[in-house]
Amino acid sequence: MSFKIITIDGPAGAGKTTVSKALSKKLGCVYVDTGALYRAVAYEIHSQKIDWEDDDRLERFLSTLDLNFVMKKDTLVLLSSGKDISGLIRTPQISMLASSVSANPKVRAALLDTQRNIAESQPAVFEGRDMGTVVFPDASCKFFLVADLKIRARRRYDELPAANQDVSDIENQIKTRDSQDSNRKSAPLKPAADAVTIDSSNLTVDQVVEEMIQIIEKA
Ligand code: C5P
Repeated sequence: MSFKIITIDGPAGAGKTTVSKALSKKLGCVYVDTGALYRAVAYEIHSQKIDWEDDDRLERFLSTLDLNFVMKKDTLVLLSSGKDISGLIRTPQISMLASSVSANPKVRAALLDTQRNIAESQPAVFEGRDMGTVVFPDASCKFFLVADLKIRARRRYDELPAANQDVSDIENQIKTRDSQDSNRKSAPLKPAADAVTIDSSNLTVDQVVEEMIQIIEKA
């Protein structure tokens, strides 16, 4: 099996992270969660109280941004100014802010090299919203993972019981985020023309990964 870059895009809660992790393990390569980059930007904007709707202020902030993926054991972990913030970027508030700030083309441009540099040095599975359309248009294999909204909300609820939200709140947040992500002008959430769409609503993680492996083997 020969591949360089595999992309998995899709709406929130479709199972991209779980599937990407399992797929990269099978393929023996790294997995890159690009949503973590947008979450890290949102986290820094929030904690530094940046007025990101002010263009000049946003530009100054972005020029000081120091985000790096480093290998810890066999996983890539995102550091912001040398600090592991993984445990701080998964809150509902940061999810919504990440979706808002990610619509800004300046934010997207600032994160492009960080994503492409990883791909220079190694094969990888990249997960996000615009992997197949914008960041890696020449990827070896592109997937678009979808699932029924109610199923996605239930999965998120099961993942984050500590967040203290009920399923209908999660469903509404996912809906708002998908709508923002799909309707923005800059790199909207959509399948690449050559992506294979997989509906994971009634599939196990293993079944999705198996389907992907079969497609990758044929590519
Ligand atoms: O994938 P995750 O839910 O962690 O992403 C958080 C937000 O970051 C998304 O709702 C989306 O607005 C943004 N994002 C993006 N492009 C990516 C990955 C994430 O715009 N490649």
